[in-house]
Amino acid sequence: MNTSPSRLTDDEQQAQERMVREQLEPRKINDERVLAAMRTVPRSYFVPRDLAIHATEDRALPIECEQTISQPYIVALMTQAMELKGTERVLEIGTGSGYQTAILAHLAQSVFSIERHQALAEVALRRLKELGYSNVSVFAGDGTLGLPDKAPFDRILVTAGGPQTPPALFDQLAEGGRMIIPVGDEQSQVLRVIQKIDGEAYSRDISGCRFVKLVGAQGWQKPGSRKR
Ligand code: SAH
Repeated sequence: MNTSPSRLTDDEQQAQERMVREQLEPRKINDERVLAAMRTVPRSYFVPRDLAIHATEDRALPIECEQTISQPYIVALMTQAMELKGTERVLEIGTGSGYQTAILAHLAQSVFSIERHQALAEVALRRLKELGYSNVSVFAGDGTLGLPDKAPFDRILVTAGGPQTPPALFDQLAEGGRMIIPVGDEQSQVLRVIQKIDGEAYSRDISGCRFVKLVGAQGWQKPGSRKR
């Protein structure tokens, strides 16, 4: 767990309080730890500077490398579905801006995050270090293969949409662990929660969604256009 110094101005703090009150609480985000993290992590710090005034709006925003920072509600929904208590080792695929990574760093013991664009990985790591997160490691590479050397993970969060659950990631999930992943075609996906019980996968779908493509050996073979 981590309590990073907040770098919010009074206006930004109020905007984040409003984001929680208007976008999250009415949509059944009720895990107090998740709501506290969403109030605390300075979202404007993770978007391109010219979009900072839009940081807490109810939508995804473009970031570098034709990717996106996910809509606040989707970040909260995925995080709530992970049911983090603070003791977990977490693997995240798709670091992007690093915002979701920071939320996870607040709520888990340690976070390993993989991003296929080296430039994004570098910027995200710099932001996370500047904000004082010491329980996060960022790797550049193909996240569909996971990090076999660091496995097993209590939780795995994939923030890009693939055609299937990468078998390598299920292998690296600890017994009793949970993985959250958007699965579907290139236009739309479902947000799937997979639990590993006695080595078997038990799945349920919690929402429709639209993410950028999970591109890799166990994802899509070619990059596509930017989405959520
Ligand atoms: N959670 C991020 C989401 C960024 S969008 C945020 O809110 O900022 C999804 C990210 O997944 C993109 O940055 C994209 O480059 C990355 N990605 C896609 N396929 C990947 C793969 N196989 N391994 C690692 N990262 C991947």
